[in-house]
Order: sequence, then structure tokens, then C-alpha cells
Amino acid sequence: MPQPYVLTLDSPPEQVEGLRPGTLRMLQKEGIDRIGELVLHFPVRHEDRRQLNFTAFSPSDTPVCHRVRILKTRVLGFGGRGGVFEAVVEGASGNPMNQQLTLRWFKMTFLQKVLAVDMELMIYGRIKEIKARLVMDHPDYEIVTGTGEDDEHGLHTSRIVPVYRLRGALKQKPFRSAIWEVLEQLEDSALPDLLPLPRAGGEFAGLSRARALRQLHHPEEFAELEQARRYLALEEFYLMQLRAVRRRHQFKQNSGWSHVPHGSLLRSFLDGLPFQLTQAQERSLDEILADLALPQPMNRLLHGDVGSGKTVVALAAMLVVVESGHQASLMAPTQILAEQHYQNALRWLVPLGVRVALRTGDKVIDGDAGLFGCGRRDDGLSQDESPSTREGRAPLASSGPDVIIGTHALLYDQKKSNLSRLGLVVIDEQHKFGVAQRARLVAQGVMPDVLVMTATPIPRTLTLTLYGDLDVSTIDQRPKERGRIITAVREITKVDEVTQFVLTRLEEGRQCYVVYPLIDESEKLDLGAATTGHGEWSKRLAPHATGLLHGRMDAEEKESVMRRFRDGEIQVLVSTTVIEVGVDVPNATLMIIHDAARFGLAQLHQLRGRIGRGSHTSYAVLFVPKGDKEALERLQLLAETSDGFKIAEEDLRRRGPGDVLGSAQSGQSPLRFGTLLADTRLVTMARKLADRTLAADPLLAAPEHARLRTLVGDEVFEGGTMQ
Ligand code: ADP
Ligand code: MG
Repeated sequence: MPQPYVLTLDSPPEQVEGLRPGTLRMLQKEGIDRIGELVLHFPVRHEDRRQLNFTAFSPSDTPVCHRVRILKTRVLGFGGRGGVFEAVVEGASGNPMNQQLTLRWFKMTFLQKVLAVDMELMIYGRIKEIKARLVMDHPDYEIVTGTGEDDEHGLHTSRIVPVYRLRGALKQKPFRSAIWEVLEQLEDSALPDLLPLPRAGGEFAGLSRARALRQLHHPEEFAELEQARRYLALEEFYLMQLRAVRRRHQFKQNSGWSHVPHGSLLRSFLDGLPFQLTQAQERSLDEILADLALPQPMNRLLHGDVGSGKTVVALAAMLVVVESGHQASLMAPTQILAEQHYQNALRWLVPLGVRVALRTGDKVIDGDAGLFGCGRRDDGLSQDESPSTREGRAPLASSGPDVIIGTHALLYDQKKSNLSRLGLVVIDEQHKFGVAQRARLVAQGVMPDVLVMTATPIPRTLTLTLYGDLDVSTIDQRPKERGRIITAVREITKVDEVTQFVLTRLEEGRQCYVVYPLIDESEKLDLGAATTGHGEWSKRLAPHATGLLHGRMDAEEKESVMRRFRDGEIQVLVSTTVIEVGVDVPNATLMIIHDAARFGLAQLHQLRGRIGRGSHTSYAVLFVPKGDKEALERLQLLAETSDGFKIAEEDLRRRGPGDVLGSAQSGQSPLRFGTLLADTRLVTMARKLADRTLAADPLLAAPEHARLRTLVGDEVFEGGTMQ
């Protein structure tokens, strides 16, 4: 006999008392050599076997639990591997109807050595009727009287029973018993808490990790099971938040630029705008400026619905950086968007004397103030006067453009892009960029401030989870003098009515988008649809001029079509989803979307954000196939609300976060207990706990944090990596 031995999670199964040799062999075969693996092998589901059936045996589709006495047993066939073991039983608590039930186990004739006449069993299984006989095949059973050898406190029956996913040699009953024994014999101290929950009060009052784990395996009530799940979900979120918060701390450890401008350039910019910033824009800008002034690098998400005015805020931030003597770059997901940002920059920044350059896959326009007919910057800023936290930076005059706008081509052509003085990177529509690409940009040797912009309204629980290492500014307010967008979902058979409606608006001088979905990445099919559609709409809407825009046109062609649309030479623009984000033509107040059901709700919301940019009321028509009730019903939400957050939540609910947020989600470990949508409160709670833990012990260096440190991992921060 071994010495008195205290079990730990590292103890081998042999140290657990009462495990049978067969069970030990089974565990060994599967390489389970620490009992910790058993404790952390969580049930996939639980079966409610508490309801003892005192009634008669009757066939049913659901498994039932009975207490029975064995009347006789027999082996059919040859007793070898092919045989069947049968036990005929009656109800143990009286048998008024003189009913019998036959239990059958195929290829398990060894049971003749286990089960014998007069034993009482708890059985659990489905009863069926075969040739006037009531039969239960392969019931789960437990011997409740008799030899006592198999008596396991009603572990397999007459309670809420855990069911485990099995692999290889593992068998449900002995595996369940092994986990039971382990949990019986493990002291609570072998399962110490990870969560620093306050002792008293709250949902988890009195709950420890040990208790939660026991409850998870062997709940007395389903409420206990849910409580355990939530506890362990909180633990999971806590670890996640610790990683995010720590990464945030580490990011801030880097030394970056401190951008402190004189203020005059920003002032002239804001004064020159044809509108006032909304309060939400001002608040976001203030948050960004405060970050820029700090010597630590900024890592911020600017988050706001389409049309909320993120670009202006970003340009203002870029100006501040330029005024402090550095470069700023703005990266867009598509060429056309980059070009549009470029146009905005030309309009608003160049008059202030800022040198702007464009770098896309196709195009390099080097900003040189002369090109745009502007003089050198005239704000009197020279290198000596401009504040900087670094020494040895190149003098302004010889160091290229102040503002570089581009697509991610910027990333691959670092030399040409000349980012030597890069102080701020603004990334538009970040979720279209791969996480790796972002990391690549940030890791270019310099440590610029990073501002990520997204129009995907992200529920708060997801920002914490997906962007937990970012600070978040939200523009939750649309500029006032915007027209409403009225959205209608229509079957395609209504196309004539819609045509009439559109014609009326075109007569009034408005313009219209017609969008065909991008069917696959190859763009071949959607190109076909858009081309055909262009022909049809040209006829319907004649004599108004129509243009066609699709991803296969070269940049020159695209730009020329866009320009003609913007300038009103074309009234109708038929396009694929290349216009998806950012295109800004206030006079375009109509949008027709074909095959709208192919898009997600959030994407449709983004699309319709192209209209409603001027003061006129705008109209979006979403076409769905004739008779497609499901699509009609699903898209109706867009007709009912223009609240991007609500739409995003619904999209998330229907399609899951992976789909909605694309690559931002990839590489993230799947959650075992938590669900991002349902457990909002737990995520928030986890964040608070993580903040508190790291505030007290940023490196998790304290001895009591040793386990936490291992679980959170010692990864070194890589620039810009998320989750
Ligand atoms: P987002 O990028 O958030 O979708 P944009 O920055 O493209 O939005 O802004 C959409 C339009 O609204 C642009 O034409 C912009 O000039 C205009 N705009 C931005 N802020 C305001 C404001 N405070 N008042 C009026 N118009 C604004
Ligand atoms: Mg935008």
C-alpha cells in the first residue's frame, strides 16, 4: 500500500483508490496519465435520469429510468463475440400488471458473469416493442443491490448524469466512474481558484473553482449546472481579458512619438469645414488628441456607423501629427476608397500647405505642394521649433510627403512609400485587413500611433473581446442635417413600380445606385449580372444616363465613371459591391439592391449608407426573389430600424461573430463555456477583474499568480497583433 498520499492534478490514475484494473488499462491506452486530464474532460451534455418511472413499461422515443429486478438471464448464440446476453426483468417496486421487459446486450456475453437473477438494477434506455415483446437494447445500468461490486451511489442512473465525448478505448461508464472517483478524492485545495472574486455577495457567492468543477460534472440540479457553466465562462473571459489588457500595457511600454502641435493648423482646418463637428466627433477627436500627445503609442479604435463622419476626425488627427513634424498615412481597403480619401485630402489639407501623396497598387502621385499649386507650408514651422521626442529625424524639407494615402500596397513598398517619419497610421475599415497585415505595418521598425476605423457597429461585448487591447472611441451620433433613409423590401416582380418611382426622383434631379451582389471572389459571375443589369436599367430609365462600375475595370476607368457620377453627368450608377464603403455623393438619394438576400444585414446597412448623405430624403429598395418569405422577413429589420448596433447584433445572432467580423476573429481560441453574445455581463465583469489584477501586479509576478502566468502565456507583444 502506498503511503498516505495527497492527490494533485498531476497524480497518476493509479493513485486513485477504487479504480479497477480494467479502467486503469483503458486510461493508460489513451495516454491519460494525470488525473487533471480527467477533471478537465468536460461533459458534452447531461441526461436527466432522476425521474424514476414507477409506472408500467411502455415504448417511447425518449429514454426512461426504471428500477428493476432480474427474473432470468440467458445467452443466445454461441456465447462468443457474436452472442447476445439477455436479462428479463420486472419492475422492482411491485408488478401489478405482471409486465416484463427484456434487456439485450449484443456481443457482451461476459455480462453473464456480472448480472444474475434477483439482482436489482437501475436501468436507463429507450423501450421499444418488438413482436409483442417490450425490449430495451444496451441500457445504461447500475446494480443497486446484490454483490455491491457495481454500486456507485447511483452515479449512472437516478440522477443528472454527465455524458462524455469518448475517443479510442474509452468507455462511457468506467470513464464516468473514474472522473467521479477522482473528484471524490481530490481535496478542494488541489483545485485552487483563478478568479479573484470578492468573498461575499454576487451571483457567484460561495462558489469556488473546485465547487464549480464538481457541479459541472455532477450537478444536483440543472440550475447548478448553469451556475457552474457561468463561473467557468467568467474564468475563460478573465484569462482572455488578462491577455488583452496585458498586451495593451506592453504596447504602451513602447516609446513612440509625442505629438504636441501648435494648434493653428488644426484650427484652420476645423474653421474651414463647411459644417460643425458633432459632439460625438468632438469627443472622439479629443480622446485621440490626448493619446497623440502622450509619449506612448496610441492604439485606438474609432468606431461609428456609416456616415457618422469618421474621416474628418481622422484627417484632423493626421493634421496634428503633421503639424508636430511627422508623417501620417491613411490606408483604405480598396483603391476607389483610397482615391476618395485622397480627393478629400486634396480639398481640405492641401490648401493648408500640407503635402499629400497617393499610393495604391496602380498609382503613385507624389505630393509635392507645387503640383497642387500651393506654396510651401506657411505656418512657420521648422524643424527646430517643432516638438519631437526623438532626435536625428530627417529635416522636413527633404523627407517627402506629409500625408500618404493608399491601399495596403503601402505595406509592400515601404521604400517607395518613404515612411521614415511615420507618426500615425490610420486604417480605414480595419476588418477588411488581415490581422497579419496590420501587424506588418506596425512592425516596420517605427512605432507609429495607430488609429483603426470601422463602420461595423460592434456590440460592446465584442469590442472587449476582439479588440480588448484597443482603446475605443465611438461616434454614436449622425450629423444633423442629414435626410432620412426610407428602406423597402420588395419582391423582384415589383420592378416596374420601383422603376416608376425612381424615374420620378431622377426627374427631380436626384441620382441612383443600382447594386448587384458580389457572388464570388472571382468577380466573373457578378460582372455578368451587373453588365446585363446595366443594359436593362439603361432601357428602363432612359433617357437618363447610366454608367457601369465593377471590380475588373482598371483604376482609370473606375475613376472616370465615379467622377462622372459625382459630377452629375451620369444619373444612374450600376455597380457591383465596389461602391460598398465610403463613396460619398450627397445628391445620390436612391439605391436599388438586387438579390439583397445574398448580403448580410450589416453589409446591407453599410451599402445603404452611401445614400442619405445629403439633406434630401433617400430611398433604398431591397429586391428579393418572388415568394422568398424568409428573405422578406429577415430583411424587414432594415426597413424598421437605422440603428447600426441593433442590426449588427441581429446579424451576429444569425450568422455568428466569425462571419460578421471576418479575419478579426481568426486565430482566436474557441470558447468552451462562454458565448460572446449571451454572456455580455460576464465579459464586462471579466474585464474589470483583469484590470484590477494587472493594476496590482502588471507582470503577474506574485507567487500566487504563478498559475495564472502560465495560463495567460508569456508571449511577447508583436506590434499590432490582436488576440
Ligand atoms: P464615415 O467615414 O463615418 O462613413 P464620412 O467621414 O465619410 O463618414 O462622412 C460622411 C459625410 O458627412 C461626408 O460628406 C462628410 O464630409 C460629412 N460630414 C462629416 N461630419 C459632418 C458633420 N459634423 N456635419 C455635417 N456633415 C458632416
Ligand atoms: Mg468612411
